[in-house]
Amino acid sequence: MSNQNTKMMQRDLEVIWHPCTQMKDHETLPLVPVKSGKGVYLYDFDGNAYIDAVSSWWVNIFGHANETINNRIKAQLDTLEHVLLAGFTHEPAIELAHKLVNMTPKGLEKVFYVDNGSSAVEAALKMSYHYHLNRGKRKALFLSLTNSYHGETIGALSVGDVELYKDTYEPLLIANMQVPVPKDQSIEAAKEALQGLEEVLKEKADEIAAFIVEPLIQGAGGMHMYHPAYLSGARVLTQQYDVHLIADEIMTGFGRTGKMFACDHAEISPDFMTLSKALTGGYLALSVVMTTNDVYQAFYCDYNEYKAFLHSHSYTGNPLACAAALATLEIFEQNDIIGENEKKSRYIIEQLEKFSVLLNVKEIRQQGMVTAIELKGYESTERIGVKIYEYALTQGVLLRPLGHIIYFMPPYVISYKEIDKMIEVAYEGIKKVAK
Ligand SMILES: *Cc1c(COP(=O)(O)O)cnc(C)c1O
Repeated sequence: MSNQNTKMMQRDLEVIWHPCTQMKDHETLPLVPVKSGKGVYLYDFDGNAYIDAVSSWWVNIFGHANETINNRIKAQLDTLEHVLLAGFTHEPAIELAHKLVNMTPKGLEKVFYVDNGSSAVEAALKMSYHYHLNRGKRKALFLSLTNSYHGETIGALSVGDVELYKDTYEPLLIANMQVPVPKDQSIEAAKEALQGLEEVLKEKADEIAAFIVEPLIQGAGGMHMYHPAYLSGARVLTQQYDVHLIADEIMTGFGRTGKMFACDHAEISPDFMTLSKALTGGYLALSVVMTTNDVYQAFYCDYNEYKAFLHSHSYTGNPLACAAALATLEIFEQNDIIGENEKKSRYIIEQLEKFSVLLNVKEIRQQGMVTAIELKGYESTERIGVKIYEYALTQGVLLRPLGHIIYFMPPYVISYKEIDKMIEVAYEGIKKVAK
């Protein structure tokens, strides 16, 4: 590492405590100070380029410094940067909410603005609990899937099931319970898991406010994937047992799974849908909880009945973020993004055929624009993902494996040539760590 990068790194480490990081790692593992970005590329202070194969933590879809999004934000900046959303409103929030209602599954008719993914999950959990309470039922238990991830604030962490993030905070969590996620992408696995869900609902539906799922792909849980039949089945069962279904589409929304929303694969409409990440094209923190008129109406009454949802965040519905989201949706409207992605994901999976002969590869799976390669034969203490991460960086690709799961989740603007490079570097990396 040469001068500029090193200087930035030292200055950083004097004052910044980084997310999801054992800071001591940076005694040996260099930080990458990013100076600029364009398209799928990130550039550091020494002029090295990296393909952002993980979309900067799954948020970016149309590349860094996208002209359409940049221009929309710049125009908004000179018009209105922010205003509170209680008692006041603004055009970007109104237009965006209409577009979201039109594009999400039928039945989702109200948009509650929040400002990041975890907070959207918190709001959905509170709304669900409060809905039942307003209807005279006290249900304070939340159901979720094993291996799930819904964010890291206390409520969101409670419904998650990734040990590494959750175990330490166990005494702080709200009441939660997990049912087994389908073990693979087969329809049989979906059916088996639905039986488990029904057993729990049969016994405990009176206590359960909502069942929250990451539809089709469990992201932080290692890009674990399952069949849409599970979603259709879960929709029927939750309705039958008066339990809300929360579809957490924070990662899967806006085309990641091959359709605009993961719920579209199963043609279901949940009671709540949480959206964030790609909503703003990966530019700014914004999230929404979408819900039904039925839920909305349960809170609608005279003030003195005290049933209102009194939840708020300072940056709720920020106009700059809404403008970025509007530009993002405009790109979808003016291009056949989903169709192009379908070709790209097919190309990616074809290129991965040569990986299946590597002895340390256990499984290759794909759902839309998310492709994962699961390795085998490593202890978690070997930190095999970190080794591949380090290698890939030296080759100009940003991969950020989840333990022994190497995955690609690139911005949709990635070219075929860049796909080739991303895959080649992963291939060499996986070969390199073979024992
Ligand atoms: C990232 C993520 C969250 C949390 O969003 P943050 O903005 O990081 O708080 C919640 N649910 C899912 C499925 C996610 O992938």
